[in-house]
Amino acid sequence: MTASLIDGKAIAEEFAAENALRASRLRAAGTVPGLAVVIVGDDPASRVYVRYKALACERAGLASWVHALPADTPQARLVEFVRSLNADPAVHGILVQLPLPKPLDARAVIEAIDPAKDVDGFHYHNVGALVVGEPAFYPCTPWGVMRLLEHEGVALEGRHAVVVGRSTIVGKPMALMLLNAGATVTVCHSKTRDLAAMTRQGDVLVAAVGRARMITADMVKPGAVVIDVGINRLPDGRLCGDVDAEGVAAVASRLTPVPGGVGPMTIAMVVANTVHGAEVAAGIAATGPTRFA
Ligand code: NDP
Repeated sequence: MTASLIDGKAIAEEFAAENALRASRLRAAGTVPGLAVVIVGDDPASRVYVRYKALACERAGLASWVHALPADTPQARLVEFVRSLNADPAVHGILVQLPLPKPLDARAVIEAIDPAKDVDGFHYHNVGALVVGEPAFYPCTPWGVMRLLEHEGVALEGRHAVVVGRSTIVGKPMALMLLNAGATVTVCHSKTRDLAAMTRQGDVLVAAVGRARMITADMVKPGAVVIDVGINRLPDGRLCGDVDAEGVAAVASRLTPVPGGVGPMTIAMVVANTVHGAEVAAGIAATGPTRFA
């Protein structure tokens, strides 16, 4: 079997067009959707991600503001700044770019965000809504994976989904979304014994680890749909995923490439969530994105 590639870039373009259409409807009704991004310090990778998000907003006709604060910003000042964004009616989405420099307490900063503007879906309110399967802002990367699977017509109900990685921003919410969609879910992590025996059970296998090409062909069930969330930089500067794409392509049925798979979907979901926040604020949508029930 040779896996066909899931073109996340092209699919994200479709979502971007839909975002632009929804944003234009909002503007016609007098609301310009707006995303405020807060970046603290000068981590180069964070600056790149922030630039992508702002650019995607501009392309879709949203307003966006990047607030760059110095690395030595005190916790109280940062929280106060986030609260000022909560109070600003032009702002429908707030992102605080992580990681924050030490000794800032990211959790306390996230909890200061109004859950109705928490387009990253990291606030306890939104995390709790995801756990009980109710509409909310869901974290953009796993939410983007769900939209990708939906777009590609990948059935989840009754299938076995295996997620490698249990981080708060990718692995855990990914597992919950798959569970809410009716999959039987196994979550693996660094303490998992015989990882390959677990991953080989996955009709759908999601790798979100951060270790270059660690998922090899012998770890994949023949015909599986493999989603590679990982972004790793090789010594020669090129990007690669957590999946050994060349080897796995011979076993899987579908595979997302890196780059051009999950990454563009993450950005599209940031914009979609912000547009949704503006729709809710304008009274033309109910709370939360599409649910998986
Ligand atoms: P974290 O480092 O927070 O989490 C990594 C997870 O992988 C942990 O749960 C860890 O287990 C697990 N893990 C580490 N080593 C192993 C191993 N040998 N076997 C099994 N599990 C292991 O990373 P993130 O979740 O933030 O990100 C994961 C990857 O996804 C990264 O490459 C990141 O760059 C990428 N990413 C991509 C995005 C996109 O838009 N495409 C967005 C966000 C992230 P334990 O909990 O036990 O330590």
